[in-house]
Amino acid sequence: MLQSLLNNLTLLTTGILLGHILKSALTERLQKALGTRLALGIASGLLGVLLMHYHFQISRHIVVDFRQLPILISVYLGGGISGAITTLLIMIYRLFLHEFGTHAVIAALNSPVTFLIGVLFLRQEKTTMPRLFLVLGLSSVSMVVIAWILYDGFPYLEMGLYLPLFFIAGVIAFSILHYLRNKDDSIRKMREAANRDFLTSLYNSRAFAKKMEQKIAAAQRDNIPFTLLIIDIDYFKRVNDQYGHLAGDAVLLQIADVMRETFSQRDHIARKGGEEFVILVDRCDADQIKVIAERLRRNVENHLFVLPDGGKLKLTISGGSATYPNVDEVELFLRADQALYRAKEAGRNRVYVT
Ligand code: GH3
Ligand code: MG
Ligand code: MG
Repeated sequence: MLQSLLNNLTLLTTGILLGHILKSALTERLQKALGTRLALGIASGLLGVLLMHYHFQISRHIVVDFRQLPILISVYLGGGISGAITTLLIMIYRLFLHEFGTHAVIAALNSPVTFLIGVLFLRQEKTTMPRLFLVLGLSSVSMVVIAWILYDGFPYLEMGLYLPLFFIAGVIAFSILHYLRNKDDSIRKMREAANRDFLTSLYNSRAFAKKMEQKIAAAQRDNIPFTLLIIDIDYFKRVNDQYGHLAGDAVLLQIADVMRETFSQRDHIARKGGEEFVILVDRCDADQIKVIAERLRRNVENHLFVLPDGGKLKLTISGGSATYPNVDEVELFLRADQALYRAKEAGRNRVYVT
């Protein structure tokens, strides 16, 4: 019995890990897609079938397995759709496992009941240990009821042995799932942090360089122009000198917000360093950038910057741009920078385009 019990447990944990590895290969959007949920439902269903096939003998007359767990895991990871498919597959297999009849129908009923319990109590974001215990407890109750209906004499000894094992398997399975999920979250956060500027949460130079490469490749492929815009705050040193470094930081944060409000989601904004920003403006030619850059210049000019001591401050920016393909890709930064320099020379608070 011990060996087949371990088989059941190993199948379960291997299934979870394998599923996780496959899921990690997908993009975040694909992970949430309907097709992925359906695949999760089918894979969990097959895992349930495997668990039933490699059941373990708990006494001379009674065999058990952990088939409820794939149903709960499927609901936990993929919601009702995945769970329903898993339940259906497990039910069908159970109905025709031995000869079809009342006995089989009653035994198969356990699966939809487990599914219902999962749907009611296993919502991802709220799954805590007490909640998991509640779900495992309710599933146990449903098994007890079914055993009570199925067998003439209630199998006390077998249930007394099986239910603790079911609990342990459930806790192991969900601990692995929690561990993997936390690890994924940490990796996602670290990856995100590695691409962001610490102060403003805009992209940093590293992320921007990558976006730039992608943008050039896409522009070459689709023959669509884009513009690189460099923005520099005018006389920013004075802010630091007069009001202190914290005030300077507050201004940088607020100007980042003005930029986020001015540009669209498709544009990429980065803090290049200090008080200098670069923006990749999507599908934007040399004429369009005049309008867009002017809008940003005006938005900044009209913005009342609030300092940590409650004081208010007005500021301006200067900018320079270079548009691809008018300007060759290797010259984009240089030409935009030169335009910015000319804007500064000409008296600041203006944007020059190339
Ligand atoms: P210009 O109009 O010519 O651009 O003048 P400016 O004073 O803005 O230019 P300059 O390059 O002389 O000064 C930039 C200042 O930005 C210098 C530095 O004190 C400040 N700075 C750079 N990074 C940060 C930061 O992270 N926080 C704060 N508060 N200040 C910063
Ligand atoms: Mg400056
Ligand atoms: Mg500067």
